[in-house]
Amino acid sequence: EAKRSGNTHVVTFDRCLFERSARQFQIESALPDAIAKGDIEIYYQPIIDTQRGCIAGFEALSRWKHPELGMIPPPEFILAATDSGHISKLTQYVLRQSCEAFRPHLANPECPYLGVNISVSDIYTGDLPNRLAEILKETGMPASRLILEVTEDMLLHDENSAIEVLAQIRSQGVRIAIDDFGTGYSSMGYLSKYQVHLIKIDRSFVQNIATSSQDQKIVRAISSMARDLELSIITEGVETTEQSDLLRKMGCLLQQGYLFGKPQPAAQWAVNANRAPAGRATQSVH
Ligand code: C2E
Ligand code: MG
Ligand code: MG
Ligand code: MG
Repeated sequence: EAKRSGNTHVVTFDRCLFERSARQFQIESALPDAIAKGDIEIYYQPIIDTQRGCIAGFEALSRWKHPELGMIPPPEFILAATDSGHISKLTQYVLRQSCEAFRPHLANPECPYLGVNISVSDIYTGDLPNRLAEILKETGMPASRLILEVTEDMLLHDENSAIEVLAQIRSQGVRIAIDDFGTGYSSMGYLSKYQVHLIKIDRSFVQNIATSSQDQKIVRAISSMARDLELSIITEGVETTEQSDLLRKMGCLLQQGYLFGKPQPAAQWAVNANRAPAGRATQSVH
């Protein structure tokens, strides 16, 4: 074994691994401080009700500019937080910050929705249901306005624990969304098993919808299934008016994407709390 690992291939591989883990180590060791000091910023992307032409909600998305490494993609620091055992701290931070930032919207019944992403470890470790209850109480956020976004794959690890934890979350009045719908490995059965409230159709189905009749069929099928199951749908990654109009015709009225607005700091959305951010959405009110 030892002899074989002395060959050059392994040396090259080791070095690559070393560089990658050096970066990961740097990210992991800076994380606790970044969370404590509030260096991780929460940006908000609007979700548009294209039928009424208003903002129906926001999704909270974390942003971290590391002093030396620059902007770190969220999936990378989420993974680092998971590996280093800091994820529940990060999730609680994001929940608390975003519930506070949502306060100006509480008086606006047209903007019912704050979406917060949680990660797989939040479901299986870290006592999320109780922490969540504390955060709702501390921030005055009504549970009915909060939706936690989980991906299909997160539910696979230990089905019974996932059902139990999501039931505890739901019993507080907080709703559950399936994020990146259609990209995971689960079966449709979990939609009822987990009593999901909303599905977010993944950007990959939206990207080529104007030209791909295959993707049109898939989205149409998901949309009609969601209607039958009385689930809400949000389509992610809407970038053009052509995509938006097509999706509307398929019954996908709640849309999120660069067409309507990129994720931005809370202060910038507070100004427009009662208005759709893009002319497009306002024009499409009947
Ligand atoms: P997600 O939850 O599916 O979030 C949507 C992602 O798509 C975001 O990327 C958003 O900026 C991007 N996006 C939105 N509209 C468009 C569009 O029209 N075109 C394109 N090309 N992209 C669009 P982001 O912010 O980089 O986040 C990536 C993923 O990282 C998220 O995917 C989510 O899974 C995870 N994430 C982000 N923030 C958090 C967090 O605070 N906690 C956890 N657990 N995960 C997070
Ligand atoms: Mg999400
Ligand atoms: Mg998504
Ligand atoms: Mg995603």
